[in-house]
Amino acid sequence: MGVSPPNVYLALGSDGAAFIDTGFNNAEDINLRMDYLKTVGNPPVTAIILTHKHPDHMGGATSFQKVTGAPLVSSPIEKEIIEAILKNQREHPKSYYSVKHGDTLNLGNLTLEFVHGPGHTMGSMAVFEQKQKALFTGDTILGFGTTAINPDDGNMEQYLETLESFLNYDLSFILPGHGPMIRNPQAKIKELIQHRIQREQQIISSLQEGAKSLENLFKEIYTELDPRLHNQARSQIKSHLVKLENEGRAIFRSEIYEIAKQYKV
Ligand SMILES: [Zn+2]
Repeated sequence: MGVSPPNVYLALGSDGAAFIDTGFNNAEDINLRMDYLKTVGNPPVTAIILTHKHPDHMGGATSFQKVTGAPLVSSPIEKEIIEAILKNQREHPKSYYSVKHGDTLNLGNLTLEFVHGPGHTMGSMAVFEQKQKALFTGDTILGFGTTAINPDDGNMEQYLETLESFLNYDLSFILPGHGPMIRNPQAKIKELIQHRIQREQQIISSLQEGAKSLENLFKEIYTELDPRLHNQARSQIKSHLVKLENEGRAIFRSEIYEIAKQYKV
């Protein structure tokens, strides 16, 4: 967990280029990125790909479009909400299409493949570059720390399924939405899955001792945490609890969670 600037990527092929995420709607940052485009020969930009709906990833979308003329591209699940966020910024994209899992974008010597990856948000999308075996993961995998799974925005079960599905790709590296490149993708993905399984186990063990409120679980599990991260930590626990509830393993009653009878030990 933590806060670091969002990464903006340019996939540069022989027949064109595509941005993957745009960063915030911040004129200074946007100008820097457009200047960078000139330094690589001002290639035609064929798509502005948005990994998900959070403003640090799509805020600059319309500004990128004004300069490049390229269409916005996202999962169909988040197209409407992204359009609404842009409308709030008093911006209306001229062209915007959605892609489904397995669709590809050809940039000549590079091909980008879109990968449905819900969990951090319900319409999160990763992008697989087949030649260099690179996976752009948005916020689904970060260069450091743990991805926020907020139960109002995302889903822990789907997040774990997404991580498992990433193991099916032959990857050389991961290009995350924040933080540095990950050069040991398989190990990193397995570590992230393991981390969530351990956290879930910790919650189950704690509830086996007796029914508890979210606040009590939080205090037990996160004993030394920067106060700025407390709310995010609470929502991580909540996401695990929602998963356990959906699976029938935990019950939520009068603000208290308890282990379902048949799972009590
Ligand atoms: Zn995000």
